[in-house]
Amino acid sequence: NTPLHELDPDVAAALDAELHRQQSTLEMIASENFAPVAVMEAQGSVLTNKYAEGYPGRRYYGGCEHVDVAEQIAIDRVKDLFGAEYANVQPHSGASANQAALFALAQPGDTILGLDLAHGGHLTHGMRLNFSGKQFDVVAYHVDDAGLVDMAEVERLAKEHRPKVIIAGWSAYPRQLDFAEFRRIADEVEAYLWVDMAHFAGLVAAGLHPNPVEYADVVTSTTHKTLGGPRGGIILAKKAFAKKLNSSVFPGFQGGPLEHVIAAKAVSFKVAASEEFKERQARTVEGARILAERLTAADAREAGVNVLSGGTDVHLLLVDLRESELDGQQAEDRLHEVGITVNRNAVPNDPRPPMVTSGLRIGTPALATRGFTAEDFTEVADVIAETLKPSYDAAALKARVTALADKHPLYPGLGK
Ligand code: PLP
Repeated sequence: NTPLHELDPDVAAALDAELHRQQSTLEMIASENFAPVAVMEAQGSVLTNKYAEGYPGRRYYGGCEHVDVAEQIAIDRVKDLFGAEYANVQPHSGASANQAALFALAQPGDTILGLDLAHGGHLTHGMRLNFSGKQFDVVAYHVDDAGLVDMAEVERLAKEHRPKVIIAGWSAYPRQLDFAEFRRIADEVEAYLWVDMAHFAGLVAAGLHPNPVEYADVVTSTTHKTLGGPRGGIILAKKAFAKKLNSSVFPGFQGGPLEHVIAAKAVSFKVAASEEFKERQARTVEGARILAERLTAADAREAGVNVLSGGTDVHLLLVDLRESELDGQQAEDRLHEVGITVNRNAVPNDPRPPMVTSGLRIGTPALATRGFTAEDFTEVADVIAETLKPSYDAAALKARVTALADKHPLYPGLGK
């Protein structure tokens, strides 16, 4: 029972340094969040020791009576949270959930229709080097000149290619999708509708975003983005798909489930049903709106900074740097220098290569979890706008970032 710092000081030092990084900088990667201590406690528990192939009440191993309780709580809570008929909480990640979902709905060689990666889609929605792109016949839809998903194109491509599955979901898109319209098109061409709500699941849980469970045959999600739980995946669906989805996850793609992570998912679903969580998601969306407003103001525009689609309805915004002297890489590096972490992101029809890009993706979930208010987000927005100007005072901006970080301590009891 030797503690980590004694047993392995090298790894312990990396963990300590990462805690310090998270505490002292502003985390604005749109897919990240801070899990509550109770979630990390469950995730770091003795449940990591247990094999439990199968599902609650139907396991291939003995001694599953307690992990059965935790997994059943997770299933019941997530069904309640999203109003789903069926839930599978075993996928190890979002990509694993998507793989299991896609193979439950279609066979290799079938046609799938998803949002182009370069226009905000995810790797698992048909990217060339991903399993989805290698094993399925991929047709991609796009955003239009206003930066909005082109539903006329979705309908045209669906009618032309008759896909087996239509995928609605995104990794980098600042607006809400029209699920009713996706459903209508899917019905018209007799396709399944799969929604990947990985990014916006927390907003759905809080009632701040339309719920795709009401429209889709299958809904997948990660649990660690806006939902604020441990790193992992889930699948929700209509009852009719239960058998296929269960066997696609196990034994189709996975062996033993990560019961410690499943217990942590259960805890996070309890948190996500709370009033505090709703209020936090409201601050998340408001923060993104404040950032979008500030980064479309006259002085930002003068510096060549703009925001795709002119604003946001969700927890992220996409900064367009095509008219700036900075490319995505340089802007990411500058913000890193003042203590703000974001990721560069291609804009539609990006003139620069994917490793450089002409954009940034900026998200507010992690700072909202830290307690940031509208006033704090206004200050964050001003610091970002100043940093992206041709001349900037790195030391002064970094001091403003430190003041914000100090105002909202993260994990105050940890690392002492
Ligand atoms: N689906 C969407 C829409 C995502 O944005 C992501 C991750 O960024 C995933 C799936 C994959 O999740 P994971 O990284 O857990 O595999």
